[in-house]
Amino acid sequence: MSQSTPLPRFEGTLEIGLHKGGRRLTPQRRKVLGLFEDKGAGIHLSAEEVHHQLLKANSRVSLATVYRTLRLLVDMGFLHELELSEGGHRFELASNDQPDHHHLVCVRCGRTEEFESESVIQAGRAAAEKIGFKLLESTLNVRSVCPECQNDDLAK
Ligand SMILES: [Zn+2]
Ligand SMILES: [Zn+2]
Repeated sequence: MSQSTPLPRFEGTLEIGLHKGGRRLTPQRRKVLGLFEDKGAGIHLSAEEVHHQLLKANSRVSLATVYRTLRLLVDMGFLHELELSEGGHRFELASNDQPDHHHLVCVRCGRTEEFESESVIQAGRAAAEKIGFKLLESTLNVRSVCPECQNDDLAK
């Protein structure tokens, strides 16, 4: 959907990262972040998927390290973390060019699709203003079952 969104330049993100808390992008962290940057905006990966990709690229790294690295990249502002109840956690590139967007999440397989909705953003803004909260982000995660998983249900 947002495939045409230009990605932030890597040098740019690097500077932001060094700025935030003075924590450095080690080669390991850079490699994990690189996975997301290669795939571009609109991709949502679980820690297991990131781990799998790294192993495929011959990086010997434990799943625990992948989790830690992902959390750190969230802290540093490079990634967004989505908490998806049954679907676990997924991570996506945090890009300033990307407007607030929402997710349809299959609770069975974790497939995640994005959609945009001005009315969701408006509703969040109106609710926040009404009680004097400062709006930071309005995102909606919709729990759902994807077509493939619905077919699996029928086949049972
Ligand atoms: Zn997303
Ligand atoms: Zn599914």
